[in-house]
Amino acid sequence: MSPTSPNGSLLIGGRPREASDGGSFATINPSTGEAIARVAAATVDDVDEAVATAYAASRRWREAKPVERGRVLQAVARLLAEHRQELARLETVDSGKPLRQGLAAIDTAIRYFEFYGGLADKILGTTIPLGAGVLDYTVREPFGVSAQIVPWNYPLQIGARGAAPALATGNTVVMKPASEAPLSLLRVATLALEAGLPPGALNVVPGSGSVAGAALSAHAGVNQITFTGSIEVGTQVMAAAARNVVPVLLELGGKSPNIVFADTDLETALPIILRSILNNAGQTCSAGSRLLVQRTVADEVLGRLTELMSAATIGPGVDDLDLGPLISDRQGAFVHGMVSDGIRDGVEVLTGGAPAPQSETFGGSFYSPTLVVSKPGTAIAREEIFGPVLVALVFDDEEEAVEIANGTEFGLVAGVWTRDVARAHRVAHRVEAGHVSINDFGGGGVETPFGGTRRSGFGREKGVEGINPYLQTKNVSVNLTH
Ligand code: NAP
Ligand code: MG
Repeated sequence: MSPTSPNGSLLIGGRPREASDGGSFATINPSTGEAIARVAAATVDDVDEAVATAYAASRRWREAKPVERGRVLQAVARLLAEHRQELARLETVDSGKPLRQGLAAIDTAIRYFEFYGGLADKILGTTIPLGAGVLDYTVREPFGVSAQIVPWNYPLQIGARGAAPALATGNTVVMKPASEAPLSLLRVATLALEAGLPPGALNVVPGSGSVAGAALSAHAGVNQITFTGSIEVGTQVMAAAARNVVPVLLELGGKSPNIVFADTDLETALPIILRSILNNAGQTCSAGSRLLVQRTVADEVLGRLTELMSAATIGPGVDDLDLGPLISDRQGAFVHGMVSDGIRDGVEVLTGGAPAPQSETFGGSFYSPTLVVSKPGTAIAREEIFGPVLVALVFDDEEEAVEIANGTEFGLVAGVWTRDVARAHRVAHRVEAGHVSINDFGGGGVETPFGGTRRSGFGREKGVEGINPYLQTKNVSVNLTH
């Protein structure tokens, strides 16, 4: 991609534009550390204009026939599918994930436009019986302008997860992609226009979080905010939303457990557990970053996982191996700092525990798949790392498994592994998480609701429930007696 590519521009009202002060930033290929493109950095004025443009576009968009909105979103899905390879490659080069994960990301993004396109004309109100003489009904209305702030780890999926339901329900969107991986969403927005989305319905304002992100979340013209990212920034966004009295949906971090009972089918479980921590080099909010294993099978499980992890292949995203780089040197230093603190806290390292030699070869920040055994309560066992670091904790019985599982401040997802049906459901009910898989991890899909409890956030995206954050109910009561 050339530095002057239009994909590096702001997109406001359907027009690619430079920033009002001419400012820009470089986006980096994390596999090599090299700059790929320069991207315009939105100023406060640019954000202002994007919000005004989204507002101006919202009247026509909300009044369009739902079936027409749905058809446009389905046309977006089809055009994205035509550009599947290009978008997967862009995501891989900009975020570092192995190519087949880039392909999975665009396939999921396509599904969001397809799914919410299909739902646009099936959003129903209710009538409420109040006796003869009154007709009472509800109408579900869009908020207006939805601000969406997206992190770097899954731009395509997270961007589409918010934009598609917001647009399907008649809102217009101003999206701020992450500075570390803005390119794929800029391309999606350009393709969406080509597919027939009206100018101004989806505006994209790349730029720094502290300028463009802060301006967007504090903007009085924004009517609803969807934020995915860290707890620290999420709380700032929530505070800004509070000042304008607008609802906010927060998808924050996690420290999600796979809970492996002794009767688990390990042949099936171990590859899934492995992927749940190695996908995107562990930089996944819903990564399976804790392994709770019953003592009687602990040696076998840990031995087999050590082998699998040390055999994982590592290299640049485009080489499509098991593991790509971390997003930045800063993230690499953070991951290694967490592991080093863990070692000081007395955890046992079974494999990994250091930056990978591929960092020297390729220039990015690669980290060796790491498996450690810890006692509950250490920082490494409680805090999010966002790297390929799996922390194993040994338990004796169901009671202890649930206690350890719930022993962090998070509650995003969990996996329960057992052949005992009653135990599987008991544990699923007692684990505090927005999403539990039984004999799987991260099961479900675009069709199923997703979101956190506790410090993992609140509000649900995906599935039919995923339209709720973008709709408010109006009640209309008609006096029929005169
Ligand atoms: P982050 O630093 O919170 O950034 C997320 C987004 O917020 C980026 O677009 C960022 O812009 C922007 N931002 C930064 N400061 C801001 C401010 N003051 N006001 C408004 N926006 C601001 O998170 P990250 O480090 O990119 O992502 C990792 C975190 O996201 C992890 O904690 C992870 O668990 C969480 N996550 C959660 C989910 C989920 O669905 N629950 C999914 C993915 C990630 P810049 O890029 O310019 O800094
Ligand atoms: Mg960041």
